[in-house]
Amino acid sequence: MNNADKIYNLAVSGVQKLVPYIPGKPIEELERELGLSHIIKLASNENPLGPGKKALAAIQATLQDLALYPDGNGFNLKSALAEKYAVEMSQITLGNGSNEILELVARAFLTPDLEVVFSQHAFAVYPLVTQAVGATAVVAPALNYGHDLAAMLQRVTEKTRLVFIANPNNPTGTLLGHAELEAFIGALPDTCICVLDEAYCEFVGDSSADDSIAWLNLYSNLLITRTFSKAYGLAGLRIGYGLSSPQLADILNRVRQPFNNNMLALAAAEAALSDTEHLQNTLAVNAQGMQLITEGFKKLGLEWIPSAGNFVLVDLKQPALPIYEALLHKGVIVRPVGVYELPNHLRITIGTQAENQLFLNALADVLSN
Ligand SMILES: *Cc1c(COP(=O)(O)O)cnc(C)c1O
Repeated sequence: MNNADKIYNLAVSGVQKLVPYIPGKPIEELERELGLSHIIKLASNENPLGPGKKALAAIQATLQDLALYPDGNGFNLKSALAEKYAVEMSQITLGNGSNEILELVARAFLTPDLEVVFSQHAFAVYPLVTQAVGATAVVAPALNYGHDLAAMLQRVTEKTRLVFIANPNNPTGTLLGHAELEAFIGALPDTCICVLDEAYCEFVGDSSADDSIAWLNLYSNLLITRTFSKAYGLAGLRIGYGLSSPQLADILNRVRQPFNNNMLALAAAEAALSDTEHLQNTLAVNAQGMQLITEGFKKLGLEWIPSAGNFVLVDLKQPALPIYEALLHKGVIVRPVGVYELPNHLRITIGTQAENQLFLNALADVLSN
């Protein structure tokens, strides 16, 4: 061990063992590595239509104010969210992506003697935020690739301070019914906070997607997280939010940075909320793309997991990494999910119809070789 390496021993033990989150491969990186020019990325569940016009106009109008600090309380965005979801502004926590909310709740509530329950195949950030603060992750086995709520509840003890549930789940796209989900939340001890991660709720076809917000009046240990990164097409700005009891929001707001949301993100998110046209277009493109891609899988004799999100997990019945690599060489970036214990699957983000078709052609080529 050289001298500089000794510093690892000084880090808290959870951080010493931490393996950082692996994001989808950036287009520029593949360009540099392979010298390709026409690359499509269907790897990070981003909006293939890009940001909406209203968000872009709001950003343009805000540029001149960039010398000033942003509004640390995010008044305008919180007002718009409060109106849209019929909650009090005091129930909202704004985050640098909803990822920050996941981190805030871990920092505010976990110590090394406490436990966190989540599901096998659930979002990779849950183990990361748990481990970073030295708490113990308790993983419940999945049921048909989705959350097994009974198995999760069985693992909740007086030591369990947090439970993470993604609905729809990433990367599997599975969706829990609202009745079973509410029964689960109601059955948790009040010493356990339920983090309901709804990063993809806008893509869920039926209007009951907002039912969970009504539960906030019943369960003061419920934290719902949502984001502008997926359906709203603002992943690059980093903005998301938590909805909870005012008391839980107060705790999260105590540990966040005073200016955790930048001015452009606040303005764009507020404008995006009122851009129903862009959201409708996004949902329509997603539905068409999901159909095209799953029909393509069928023609190729491949199975997939039915998805409620803007992505779909395909079962290649063989190690997925070589297929992933071969697709990269054809300029198509998708997402391997080996870290989710799914070594034979690839996750495909639904793109524009042109991108979806290019992906299907590339996949057919790769599989026929
Ligand atoms: C993308 C994603 C998030 C967080 O995205 P942000 O960009 O940080 O808002 C959270 N949960 C799940 C399940 C996701 O897929």
